[in-house]
Amino acid sequence: MHNDVKSTLTTFGSGASFNPYLMAVQQFEIAAEKLSLSEDIREILRKPKRELIVNFPVRMDNGHITTFTGYRVQHNVNRGPAKGGIRYGPDVTLDEVRALAMWMTWKCAVVGIPFGGAKGGVICNPKNMTSAELERLTRRYATEISIVLGPHSDIPAPDVNTNPQVMAWIMDTYSMHEGFSIPAVVTGKPLSIGGSEGRNEATATGVLFVTRQAAKRLGFPLRGARVSIQGYGNAGSIACRLFYNEGCKIVAVSDTRGGIYNENGLDPAAVLRHKQERGSVAGFPNAQAVRPQDVLEVPCDVLIPAAVEGVITSANADRVQARIVTEAANGPTTPEADRILSQKGVLIIPDILANAGGVTVSYFEWVQDLQSFFWKVDEITQKLEMIMNRSFAAVVGLADQYHCDLRQAANMLAISRVAEATQIRGIYP
Ligand code: NAD
Repeated sequence: MHNDVKSTLTTFGSGASFNPYLMAVQQFEIAAEKLSLSEDIREILRKPKRELIVNFPVRMDNGHITTFTGYRVQHNVNRGPAKGGIRYGPDVTLDEVRALAMWMTWKCAVVGIPFGGAKGGVICNPKNMTSAELERLTRRYATEISIVLGPHSDIPAPDVNTNPQVMAWIMDTYSMHEGFSIPAVVTGKPLSIGGSEGRNEATATGVLFVTRQAAKRLGFPLRGARVSIQGYGNAGSIACRLFYNEGCKIVAVSDTRGGIYNENGLDPAAVLRHKQERGSVAGFPNAQAVRPQDVLEVPCDVLIPAAVEGVITSANADRVQARIVTEAANGPTTPEADRILSQKGVLIIPDILANAGGVTVSYFEWVQDLQSFFWKVDEITQKLEMIMNRSFAAVVGLADQYHCDLRQAANMLAISRVAEATQIRGIYP
C-alpha cells in the first residue's frame, strides 16, 4: 500500500476532528491499489482540479455587514462538466468540500452519467438567518463563484441546508449576469423555472431501488422490514415515506434535535406534520425519545444514514444491528467501521451508489433544460430505476469477481471509468 495511505489510516480522526478528505483519499488509494492504477493516474486523481475560496460581505437585516467564507471545489472534469451540491452550515470546511467533490466524481461515473465531480459550501448558520439574509448571501456567493459556474462547466444542486428556492436564486443571479435565462446552470430547481418532475424525491427513490435489490440478494422481503433513518431532511424524510409505502415498518427517525423510536412503527405522515409544526421530530407522541445518534443502533433490518458524514465509526459500528446499511448520506461510514460491519456480515450499499438517484435525476433535469423539452414523471422514474438497477448489478458483479465489499467494488468501477477518460484524453499541453 502507498505510504500516504498507511499514514492516513490512523489520522482522519473522529468527532469534530474527523477529516472526510483524508478518508476519501484513503478509499481512493485502496481502490487504486486493487485496480493496479499507474502512479501517474493516481497523482492526477487524488487531488482536486480546482479550488475556489471566496470571502464576501453580506448586509444583515440589522444593517451591519458580516463577511462569509464559501468554497467551490471541482475534483475532475474528464467525463463531463463538474456537478455537485452546495451546502450551508456552521461546520463546513474546505476538506469536507474536497471530499464531497471527489465522491461526486466517482458517483457520476458509477452510474455512468456524463459529469465530473464538484461541491460547494458556505460557512454560515442558516437556522439563525432570515430568508432575506439567505437570499442576499446566496446571490453574492453565486456571483463570487460564477467565474467557474456554467451549464457546460459546473452545475450546482441542493445539499444540506439548501433547497429549490436557493437553486432558483442561483439560477436567477447567474442569468442576470448573462442577460438571459440559463436554467441548465443549476439542478434541483422549482418546476416553474425548469426543474424536473421527480427531482425532489430522486435521492430517496434511488435509495429505495438499491435497497430492494440488496434485500433480494440477501433473500428477505422488504415488505415488513424494520427501517431506521438518521436525518429528516430531503433524503431522510422522503425515504421515510417511500419505505413506508413499500410496506416497511419505520421504527426510528432522528434530526439534529433528537430521535424517536417505536418498535411497532411510526406513521410518516404524522411525523412529518409534527416536524412541520415543531421544527423537529423530537417530542413526537407515542414514541420513545432517543438521542439523534441512537437511531443508528436500534434493532432494525435496514439502516439509512441520511444526515452527515462520519457518523458510523469504530466507536459504534459493533452496535449496529441492521442487515443492510443504505448510505443516503455522503461518507457516513468510516473505513474502520466498514471493516467492523463487513465482519459482522452487514451489507453496506455505499454512498456513491446508494444516493446517486439525486444526481441521476439532476442529469435528466439538465438534459431537459438544454432541450427545453420536458418529460413526464413516469418516464423519469422508469429511467432512474433502470440506471440504479443496472449500476447495482455492475457493482455486485465486480464485488463477486474481486471478492470485495460493495464500497470497494463501486470505487473500483467508478475510478476505472474516470482513469480511462483521463488516460485517453491525455495531458494538456
Ligand atoms: P437536509 O439539509 O435536507 O437534511 C439533513 C437532515 O439531517 C436534517 O433533518 C438535519 O436535522 C439532520 N441532521 C444533521 N446532522 C444530524 C445528526 N448528527 N444526527 C441526526 N440528524 C442530523 O439535507 P439532505 O439534502 O437530505 O442531505 C442529507 C445527506 O444526503 C447529506 O449527506 C447529503 O450530502 C446527502 N445527499 C443528498 C442528496 C439530495 O439530493 N438532497 C443527494 C445525494 C446525497
